[in-house]
Amino acid sequence: MTSIKTPIKAIRAKCLDCTASQPGEVRLCEIASCPLWPYRMGKRPDKPPDEKKP
Ligand code: SF4
Repeated sequence: MTSIKTPIKAIRAKCLDCTASQPGEVRLCEIASCPLWPYRMGKRPDKPPDEKKP
C-alpha cells in the first residue's frame, strides 16, 4: 500500500500513473475535460475550477 498523505497528492500520483511517470507530460496534459486536470500539478489551483451550473 502506498503512503500518499493528501487527496491532492493522490491526484498527482494518478496523473503520473496516467502519463507513465512523465512529470512533463502531466504539465502539458491537454485533457482539460478531465476532472483531475486543475489539480494535476499537486497543488490547489489559485482559483477554484469553474463549476458547471446545473
Ligand atoms: S489530468 Fe491529464 S494526466 Fe491527469 S489523469 Fe487527467 S488526463 Fe491523465
